[in-house]
Order: sequence, then structure tokens, then C-alpha cells
Amino acid sequence: MTPTAGPYAGTSRLDAARRTLELEALGDDPRIDLLVIGGGVTGAGVALDAASRGLRTVLVEARDLAFGTSRWSSKLVHGGLRYLASGRIKVARESAVERGVLMTRTAPHLIRALPQLVPLLPGLLRPGQAALIRTGFHAGDALRLTAGTPGALLPRVRRIDADRTRLLVPGVRTDGLRGALVAHDGQLVDDARLVVALARTAAQYGASVLTRVRAEQVTGTSARLVDTLTGRELAVRAGAVVNATGVWAGEVDTSIRLRPSRGTHLLVDARALGNPTAALTVPVPGSTSRFVFALPQQLGRVAIGLTDEDAPGPIPDEPQPTEAELSFLLETVNAALETALTRADVRGAYAGLRPLIDTGDGSTADISREHAVLENPDGVVTVVGGKLTTYRRMAEDAVDAAVRLRGLPARACWTARLPLIGAPGHRDSRPLPAGEGAMGSVPASVPASLLARHGGAAHEVLAAGESAPVAEGLDVTRAEIAYAVTHEGALDVADVLDRRTRIGLVAEDAERARKAVEEIVGECRGAVQEG
Ligand SMILES: Cc1cc2nc3c(=O)[nH]c(=O)nc-3n(C[C@H](O)[C@H](O)[C@H](O)COP(=O)(O)OP(=O)(O)OC[C@H]3O[C@@H](n4cnc5c(N)ncnc54)[C@H](O)[C@@H]3O)c2cc1C
Repeated sequence: MTPTAGPYAGTSRLDAARRTLELEALGDDPRIDLLVIGGGVTGAGVALDAASRGLRTVLVEARDLAFGTSRWSSKLVHGGLRYLASGRIKVARESAVERGVLMTRTAPHLIRALPQLVPLLPGLLRPGQAALIRTGFHAGDALRLTAGTPGALLPRVRRIDADRTRLLVPGVRTDGLRGALVAHDGQLVDDARLVVALARTAAQYGASVLTRVRAEQVTGTSARLVDTLTGRELAVRAGAVVNATGVWAGEVDTSIRLRPSRGTHLLVDARALGNPTAALTVPVPGSTSRFVFALPQQLGRVAIGLTDEDAPGPIPDEPQPTEAELSFLLETVNAALETALTRADVRGAYAGLRPLIDTGDGSTADISREHAVLENPDGVVTVVGGKLTTYRRMAEDAVDAAVRLRGLPARACWTARLPLIGAPGHRDSRPLPAGEGAMGSVPASVPASLLARHGGAAHEVLAAGESAPVAEGLDVTRAEIAYAVTHEGALDVADVLDRRTRIGLVAEDAERARKAVEEIVGECRGAVQEG
């Protein structure tokens, strides 16, 4: 019996009952082709790659989907411009190609073209820096062209005047403003949503996706799995094991030594910057290559990031930003704003860890942008580094390595042509009618934000509950809370607040929504168990 036989076969629905059934099935027959450890973007991508090639695949995640770095990113789908600057042409091109795949085929419903503007303001740019940035932008445009991404999707680089600059970012400083340079990149509505879409699509192709299951005593062909909800243990035998645990990779494979670096963002109300529709890019004083970005986000916020701080020592579950980082971000962005932001404007903050490989001689090799596939003497295949943007390529490389090393019976990778749940072309998606911008079967009252988060699955989300907001002034429907439990594998209130929705990014919002979320989660969990 495959882990997903029975009522869930061929469905992308993840819920507590499926988890129980699949753990039991695995206990009955613990031999699988591929064990994937880690439910971030990399592990979910590996599970989809392997399952869609016909491998019997199990993904285990110690906490929840997108619990780690994958929910703390800047949520950009990069075209690789910054790698060009350091001469890393291969990485830059790979990024541009993967951005095109995501935006045209696999997840266009979760990504929009984001204008990123560099304001031309006195004192903000060093002499010659504007010309340097313009050259870089044009190189990025050339990359887009070579990757085959149409200009209709990501408009070409241009210079805009001061009025247009103020229209896109009303909070920009106006004194001496001569306009701005504008380039476009992709922006995810939310990083954790990409992970959930990947995991669910993998489940549809037969992967078992098991959260609250920690892998221990991992070898190239086996692991002990611990169900952290019950304490039950299970020994699995696998054709191959892929370690996709990000900054925790060294705990699973002790031959790997990581030395993480922390990246922090803070969140302010979008109103404080006049509700911008473009990102503001502000050079860090004294550097030609570092910038602070103010990125418009869902739920009426702007994220301002990001830092790069050495973070040695044990890996925390949730890294914490420091006061110094918050001050640095505010100070840098304020140089381009008409009204300076203060500490009182900060509604929330978050930090994520980039995995850097410790070379042992006091320096680190930055693989946070390039990825590595490594095999340890035990045969464990570790895939680490890279970015959200390149998860698909990382997954393909990791599964190729596992297949090659162990002779697994896999078909060729085809994930570049495989739409994720909610994307146009996915078999359960309902298409958008031409020219309307609303789903065919979905009433006009459907919030645009729900469409942005769920795309072609919006009809299914609305069937799960009411379209009223979960709390006054919060742009998340009660239906999305219910759907998180009935279809997206959320097991408790924290999964819903902190990962399926991002209400939890602002503590005040989480408190306003908590009671309603607790009620809906309670009702839905009951229904899932009875059903
Ligand atoms: C601040 C910051 C900003 C970024 N911004 C961007 C961006 O804008 N665009 C972009 O493309 N990339 C960006 N990146 C990079 C990107 O976020 C990461 O490359 C990516 O999220 C890493 O995903 P992962 O799946 O490898 O690791 P993670 O997301 O950390 O997943 C690892 C998972 O493994 C689980 N785990 C650990 N140990 C075990 C175990 N023993 N058993 C089972 N499970 C286990 C953890 O709970 C965790 O969920 C950014 C990174 C940082 C730090």
C-alpha cells in the first residue's frame, strides 16, 4: 500500500486525519524510495520533484511547514541582478530562469511584478552611483531577456519623473527629488504560502507530508522518526535520504558545519509611507552594493530590510532581531523619506538565518545564494543554501544526485512544467475569466487579497467557510482560517496565525484575531476527526 492510498489518494488535501492515516501506513510498511527531512521550501520542492517522478516519497518536518527560514525571507523572486554584480554569472542566470518558470508556469498566482525604485535625491547616492545602478539594472534586463521572460510580465528598466515617483511611493522625500530609476522583479504574496502550495502539490502526486515528525539517527538509507505529538517512534528504510533542513543541516548530518548569518526586517503600516505600490531602494551609506528595501506587503504593511549579521551558536527556533538592527534599518530608510519613521512606527519585526558553510579556518563560504548538494560518508544527501527563487533547481539537483547514487527508479524531472495548486493549468484550479480579474465561479465580493493568496483554489477556500474577515480591519477571511485546517495541514492555532496566514507577524493583530481563530480551528479539527 502506498502511504496515500485510501480517501486521500490523488488529492492535495492535508489535514490531521491524513497525517494519522499516513503515519499508520508507514508503520505497516516502512520501506520507501525517498525520505525528505525538512518542510521548508527546499524540502517541499524535493518532495514534489521526487513524487512527480514516481518515487514513493515521505517528507518529515519536525514542527510545521515553513517553520524555518522559508517564512522569514524578503519574499522576492529574484532575477539574479545582485549576483551579476559579484561576477557570479551562472547563479544570476539560474535565478533569472527560475524566476521566469515561477512567474509564467508554476506559481504565477502567488507572484506579482514589483517595481523597485531608486529615488534620485541629493545626498542619497554617491557620485557615479546612479550610473552604476542604471548599468546594473540594464544587465538585469538582459538576463531577463536571455531567460525568455517577457517584458509584458516584467517591464523594462526606465527612469521616471518626480511626480510618478511620488505616485508610486507617496512617502518619498520631495526636496530635490529628480525622479527615480525603476526596475522590476517578482514578489511573492507570502513565502510560507509557496511552501504550502509545494507540499500540497507533492501530496497530490502521492508524497506523504508529515508535520510534527522529527528525524533522528539519520543514515543514507534509514532514520528514526519521532511523532512529537504522541512520542511514538518509527524506523524507516529508504532508498535514499535527503537532508533539507536549512540552518539545521549540521544537526542531521554532523559532517556539515554551518555558521549562520541573520537577516532582519521590520514592519510598519503602509499608511506611514502613503500606501506605496512600489518598493523603495535606499543605498546603505558607505557601500556601493548594499541597499535597504521598503517592500509593500499584504495585510497593509511595508517590510523594511535587511541586515546581515554573524549569528554563531545554537540555532534558535525563532531568531530575534536586535535593537541595533532595527535602528540601522530605520536610519537608512529615513534618508529617503519625507517624514522620518520612528521606533513608535514599528509594528513588528522578524529575522531569518542564512546558512553559511564554516570552512574551519575562521572564514565562511557564502553558499546562502548558491546551493550545494553534498553526500556524507554515510550516504546522506544534503541540499543546502540557495534561495526561495531557486528551490526547484535545488530540488532537481538533489533528487538527481539521490537517483544517481542509489539507482532509484525515477522518471526525468518535469517540475518546470508542473503548475502548483492554485496556478492556472493545475487540474483543480478554476481559471480567471478574461479581463475580469475575478474567479469565474467566485462572487464579485471575493476579496482581492484572498485571490492573491489562493489563485485558482479560491472557490475551494470559500466553500470552507464565511467570507467575512476574521477580525475587524484584518484582510483575512474566516474561510481561509477554516481551509488552513481542512486543506492546508494546519494542526493548531499557531500554524494558522504564524504560517498559513501571516497575521502573527504583528502581535497586536494576532491578539485581535486569536479568539475567532481558536473557535474556527476547534470546529474544523472536530469535523476533520469525525470525517
Ligand atoms: C533574511 C532572509 C531573507 C531572504 N530573502 C529571500 C528572498 O527575498 N528571495 C529568495 O529567493 N530567497 C530569500 N532568502 C533565502 C531563502 O529564504 C532560503 O534560502 C530558504 O527559505 C531556505 O529554505 P530551506 O527549506 O532550505 O530551509 P528552512 O526553511 O529553514 O527549512 C528547514 C526545515 O527543516 C526542519 N527541520 C530541522 N531539523 C529537522 C529534523 N531533524 N527533522 C525534521 N525536520 C527538521 C525545520 O523545522 C525547518 O522547517 C532569504 C533568506 C534570509 C535569511
